[in-house]
Amino acid sequence: MKALVWHGRNDVRIDTVPDPKIKEPTDVILKITSTAICGSDLHIVDGMVPTMEKGDILGHEFMGEVVEAGREVKKFKVGDRVVVPFTIACGNCEYCDDTLYSLCDNSNPNPEKAKANLGHSISGIFGYSHMLGGFDGGQAEYVRVPYADVGPIKVPSTLSDDQSLFLSDIFPTGYMAAENADIKRGDTVAIWGCGPVGQFAIQSAFMLGAERVIAIDSVKERLDMAKNHSRVELIRTTDRDDVYEKLMEMTNGKGPDSCIDAVGAEAHGDTLVGKAVDKTKEVLQLPMSRPYVLQQIMMSCKKAGTVSIPGVYIGMVNEIPFGAAMNKALTFKMGQTHVQRYLKPLLDKVDEGLIDPSFIITHRMKLDEAPKAYDLFKKKEDKCVKVVLTP
Ligand code: NAD
Ligand code: ZN
Repeated sequence: MKALVWHGRNDVRIDTVPDPKIKEPTDVILKITSTAICGSDLHIVDGMVPTMEKGDILGHEFMGEVVEAGREVKKFKVGDRVVVPFTIACGNCEYCDDTLYSLCDNSNPNPEKAKANLGHSISGIFGYSHMLGGFDGGQAEYVRVPYADVGPIKVPSTLSDDQSLFLSDIFPTGYMAAENADIKRGDTVAIWGCGPVGQFAIQSAFMLGAERVIAIDSVKERLDMAKNHSRVELIRTTDRDDVYEKLMEMTNGKGPDSCIDAVGAEAHGDTLVGKAVDKTKEVLQLPMSRPYVLQQIMMSCKKAGTVSIPGVYIGMVNEIPFGAAMNKALTFKMGQTHVQRYLKPLLDKVDEGLIDPSFIITHRMKLDEAPKAYDLFKKKEDKCVKVVLTP
């Protein structure tokens, strides 16, 4: 089959690779019908994610049709159309029992690599390094989906791929980010980043009762997209210092009640210094970063406010004004999304017509063109916000 393969920093190619096979009786094999590129994939392309190996297949946002089911799979049969969460979870450990699926204890077959970098193992993630399981991703014609009875959800025939695909990641991620922001009716929420995650965080913040949402980005087209789909207020930022002043002006000097960082490692800059503590003796270079977004958030968030961080950070992050966070009694919530928890409720919202997630799609391309699509998305050229690839 054809798949998008990682060959190194800024080097992804379409290669012919072996078709996936059922490995465990709880697996299904999916024929991919639609797959997307995520901001998290850019971290891999930028060489920020440790434990990637040449030959790894990328992609964790995908949906398709079941073409083979392991003998213990109960929920699905050949021909079912499903969307798959990017987090792989066993459904049986203490974390899954608490619906903390992205912290699953059992789904990562390489827990030592995760422990070396994170202190603990977390759930496996499709196409996202060997420390997160070394699972092949879904920017491909076919993919193996482990723990099929726990992750995927059937999609009604009334919903198109475009309407369902983003349940795999960015809609639940934006939604959990807004939930983590502890929004109370009447609150003002500030959201850094109007990429796909930021766009869904904006939509979700309004759904959860925010009175005002202020979105911050430097890319005009992304701010325009947010404005075209909500009554968001905008700050276009080009330098790091004006955001605090503007937020104070807009909130009578109080600051937003909660702040969401939907930017993550992109605000790192690309200085690669610092080393991970690595008990496996594999020396990893991780970014020692200058987190301007986190600085702005900690300085501007209202006293006793909540900071929600869906943006992915990697390795060591320095220059965080922790004194401001402590003295202002801020609350922090973050993490990879517990996608399984949100699949059914958010699918219902789409099915009821409360939101049509396809508003995010700016580009459609063939899987063959994936390297070009990565380039477009990374450089934010041609007003690109989200690319959907079809094999
Ligand atoms: P993206 O790269 O398309 O969006 C990031 C946006 O941030 C861009 O629009 C960029 O212009 C903006 N930005 C950069 N620097 C900024 C700054 N200083 N101030 C304001 N805006 C700034 O990516 P995305 O797909 O929207 O993903 C966003 C983040 O969410 C990434 O870190 C990604 O890894 C993460 N993510 C997390 C999860 C999760 O489970 N927690 C899931 C998916 C994605
Ligand atoms: Zn993603």
